[in-house]
Amino acid sequence: MQNTMPDISLNNEVRDTVILGSGCAGLTAAIYSARANLKPLVLEGHEPGGQLSITTLVENFPGWPDGVQGPQLIENMKLQAARFGTDFAMNHLVSVDLSRHPFELNLGKSVLRARTIIIASGASARWLGLPSEQALIGHGVSSCATCDGFFFSGKEIAVIGGGDSAMEEAIFLTRFATKVTLIHRSAHFRASKIMLDRAIAHPQIQFITNTIVEEVLGVEEKDVSGLRLRNRVSNEETILPVSAMFLGIGHEPNAKMFAGQIDLDVDGYVLTNNNVFTRVPGVFACGDVQDRRYRQAVTAAGSGCMAALEVEKFLE
Ligand code: NAP
Repeated sequence: MQNTMPDISLNNEVRDTVILGSGCAGLTAAIYSARANLKPLVLEGHEPGGQLSITTLVENFPGWPDGVQGPQLIENMKLQAARFGTDFAMNHLVSVDLSRHPFELNLGKSVLRARTIIIASGASARWLGLPSEQALIGHGVSSCATCDGFFFSGKEIAVIGGGDSAMEEAIFLTRFATKVTLIHRSAHFRASKIMLDRAIAHPQIQFITNTIVEEVLGVEEKDVSGLRLRNRVSNEETILPVSAMFLGIGHEPNAKMFAGQIDLDVDGYVLTNNNVFTRVPGVFACGDVQDRRYRQAVTAAGSGCMAALEVEKFLE
């Protein structure tokens, strides 16, 4: 990307706007604020490109009648933002001080100042929290089917969850796995009907409902060999031999560093008024970090647009 800032640690200027996050919301905010000549700086964060960059075919983003691959959609948005003068930096935000203006952003080796901030830091994959799961991340436990599915070609795989993410992962993983077992803790699915029907109809996908994972087996060998499951209705325990477990159980908002400075709800999502206003004037939030209801690429893009328009008004 030609507009990447090579060394923002040397750069002590006050930015009109700094955008935290480079997913759909952040990049849309960048396109709008760059076209308004605000020369935004996007801090790409821990997961550059956000959730779209680790998904496969996106069929519901308007304007793509045959669908578009998530990473391609993100790359296009990035090119579009760069074309109008957006700067990108790979830095992570260590801490932020919203009590002074311009706001201070601590990037570890340097401090950046900004007249406005757009929080578009999204949400990260949720884990079950089992010690055995944590011990085996990268050794058969994964939250990214597109990243890791290939490693389990010809093997049997489990996918956990009952939403669209789990359905999408299960369907995608049938490209590699001989069999995919989808394990869901209840018998009610949050997945959209079309995705659920596709997964149910797939000959390589088997469903196990009302069941939770109690342990991922293979910690000693550093290689997943199976799952110890418990049926929540009958209490019966079973062992499911699999070579991998993929999580598709939703996401956690990336807003912890703002706790105490702006309002967060009980689950850590940023609380906003009128879509994108936080309680600190000049600090706006958009996309999945503040949206627990819709969480779609197109709604994230829409709120990114709103945040950029409000930044423009604020700076006027
Ligand atoms: P979600 O809709 O919130 O579903 C999360 C699922 O994981 C639920 O079935 C939930 O079970 C289960 N779960 C949560 N915590 C769990 C735990 N600790 N142990 C076991 N199971 C757990 O999340 P999502 O599937 O990531 O979808 C999020 C949004 O993105 C949705 O709006 C979805 O439509 C959208 N999305 C769309 C696409 C697409 O259109 N291609 C693809 C992916 C996601 P309970 O139901 O029992 O709570």
